[in-house]
Formats: sequence, C-alpha cells, structure tokens
Amino acid sequence: MYQKSIVVALLLGVILWSCKDEETEINKAPFQAYIEPVELREFGFNLNDYVVKKDTIRSGDSFGAILQRHNVDYSKIYEIAESAKKSYDIRKLRAGNPYTLLLAKDSLQTPQCFIYQENNVDYVVIHFADSIVTYKEKKPVTVVTKEASGEINGSLSVTMDAQGLPQSLIGEMADIYAWTINFWKLQKGDKFKIIYKQRYIEDSIYAGLDGIDAAYFQHKGEDFYAFKFVTDTLTKKGDFFDEKAKSLKRAFLKAPVNFGRISSRYNLNRRIAYYGYALRPHKGTDFAAPIGTPILATANGTVVESTQRGGNGKYVKIKHSDTYSTQYLHMRNQAVKKGQFVKQGDVIGYVGMTGNTGGPHVCYRFWKNGKQVDPFKEKLPTSESIPNHLVVKYQDFIKPLRTQLDNIPYKYQNETTIEQGYSITKN
Ligand SMILES: [Zn+2]
Repeated sequence: MYQKSIVVALLLGVILWSCKDEETEINKAPFQAYIEPVELREFGFNLNDYVVKKDTIRSGDSFGAILQRHNVDYSKIYEIAESAKKSYDIRKLRAGNPYTLLLAKDSLQTPQCFIYQENNVDYVVIHFADSIVTYKEKKPVTVVTKEASGEINGSLSVTMDAQGLPQSLIGEMADIYAWTINFWKLQKGDKFKIIYKQRYIEDSIYAGLDGIDAAYFQHKGEDFYAFKFVTDTLTKKGDFFDEKAKSLKRAFLKAPVNFGRISSRYNLNRRIAYYGYALRPHKGTDFAAPIGTPILATANGTVVESTQRGGNGKYVKIKHSDTYSTQYLHMRNQAVKKGQFVKQGDVIGYVGMTGNTGGPHVCYRFWKNGKQVDPFKEKLPTSESIPNHLVVKYQDFIKPLRTQLDNIPYKYQNETTIEQGYSITKN
C-alpha cells in the first residue's frame, strides 16, 4: 500500500512537473528517487534490515567463538547459550555447515541473530536482539510439476539419462512398469511420457524427486497408462493403476487354464513307481484339462521360446521381468511365436499330450532368477485393483491427468533433448 501511494504521488509529481516545465530532462529525476532495494527475505527476516555475514562453521569452531569474533562479551554469550540450549544443543554445530549472522545496521554492528543451517531445509534461529528466542524452522519447499517424454533409443535408462532426467525418476518409472513391460525387450519406437514432481528449496535448489503422478508407455504399439492414486486415505499410500482402475502390479494368474484341476503339484521329492520309485523331482504344477483347452499367459511378458523339445513336447516360455519367467509344456500346439509380446490372459497355446505325458495336461513351470520354484509358495506381488466404491472417484481423478499426458508432445526431431514444461504448485 505504502509503495503504491508513493508511485501514484510520484507519477503525479512527474505529470505536474512536466506541465510546469517543457524540458525533457526533467522526467528522469523523480524516477531515480524511486529505486528501492528489493526486499531480500531469508529465514523469515528482511536481510536489508541487517548487515549480513554468511560463513561456514570451521572445524573446532563453536557458537561462543563465533559470537566472540563479533565482539559479543562473555557474559552475554553465556546468557544466550544458556537460554538457547533449552531448545537446541548448540554443541551440535557441524564443521562445514553454513551459518548466517545478522548484525545491527549501525556503527557497532552488534550481532542480533545467529542462524545455523542443519541441511538445505532445516535451520535453527537464535535471536537475541532483545529477549533470547531459539526456534527451528524449515525453508519453504516448492513442488514443481514437470513433464517429460521421449522415444526409446537403446534402453529406457539410457534414453532417460540422455535427456538429463534424474536417476530416481528412471528408477521409479522402471518400478511402475516392472510387471507390465519387460524393459529388456524394449523396441525402437517405444515411447514414454511422464508427469512428475520435483522438490525445490526456495524455488531454486533441487531437493529431489517428489514422485511420478502419471505415466504412459507405448510398447510394441500398445498403450500402458499408469496413474498414482491413494486408495488408503489413512496411510496416504498411493499405488499405480491403469485407465481401467486395475493395478499395474499384476500378480500372476493362479492357473494357466480357466478350467481344469491340479493333477500334480510341484514336488522335489516325487518318486514314481513306473521308474522303480526313483527320485523324479517335479518342478512344475500339472493342470489336467481336456485337449484343446486354451492355455493362458499368467502375466504380461515376451515369448522367449516357442518350440518342441524332448520330454517337454511343444512348449512356450514367457519372460515377465528380469526375475520371473513361466513355461507351459505338452501343448497340442502353440498360438504364439518367439519374440511376441503377450498380455496376462492371452491364449498362448492349447492343452495337448506332446512329450512325456500320461494324459492331457499343461505342466506349468515357474522360473525365478533362473531357477524353477513353486509359484504357490512364492511371495508374489499382489494385484489389488481399486475398490469398487472408489472407481468413479478414480475415473474423475485421472481424467485431467490423462488429457495432460495425451497432450505432451514427443520430440521426434531430437531424441536426446526434451521439452520440460512445468507449472508450479505450492505446497
Ligand atoms: Zn509337470
């Protein structure tokens, strides 16, 4: 208000002045008088009100020694220290950490305030201009929403890294899609878009990734949306779901056939009469089903084998992630080819009796880190879709995010640089 009225008064002055005098030089004078220093705020103080001394704690330095160097007498230092230590242990000052001293703007330059920065965000203020007040504060953290997009050229991490995107973002992106997309099988032409948040201290100092809000991946021509949504308002824990409100952390289907029964479980100690009760470990789970029953991929992945070999007969092997693969034996015939990307529930073949088998069944083998394990005993990621009562809320929530994602352009002309538009939201 004060400044506004001055400006008005000045403008008025200028006008009046120019009315009185035609000389062109005249206008300059009043404007020069108006240049006021911009208010420089830090730690909640207007730094223009003080002589500001910024330094770092030296090794062997102490709160007392610093004040002493600025001519504060012992008794005063003692008084301040005694009062301050009730709320902050001033012996904790670490060498190398920055501090700021605010001195009175007079000839004596008496210290009035000591501010110690524990880290980029947290600081301690010991104010002793009048009474002694000690308190801890945090610098304001700004959360900035950013967008990124790109076309895969090499691996996802190489592509994202080439764009200068932070490692933490690459890691979170890989986590989100770990169950949906096999990052080892990315194809040239696959694309991604991300809406994410970054934290900044006082609008400028990068303070880490705040997380991904939404992402899109186009893999082998298929769309994979991911939206972060909080289903548990108590814990505020969010998870990623697709446009149909289904979790991206897809568990494996319980069985590769919709109809049938388990005829033989995974059993490393199996002995078979036919072989004279010799140890014949069974490293799969047999699902007996009529010949021709469709066999389904239990999770998204890439077909790494579709062939016929010895006792396995005709089989398909799917790689789901770096960790997991599944294999389906004794097929009558396969429905997929090597290299093909399949989604959970896709038909990959039909139940048959090829290879060593006494009857029509699919022997389902579950590979973890190159070893065959019993999927029924493994702790596999659960797939919790959004509860029914939240689906409408979820759909409303993702609508603007999806529009935003869809409108992020790709930088085809230059795959290594990216437009990173951003809007600011203050938290
Ligand atoms: Zn089997």
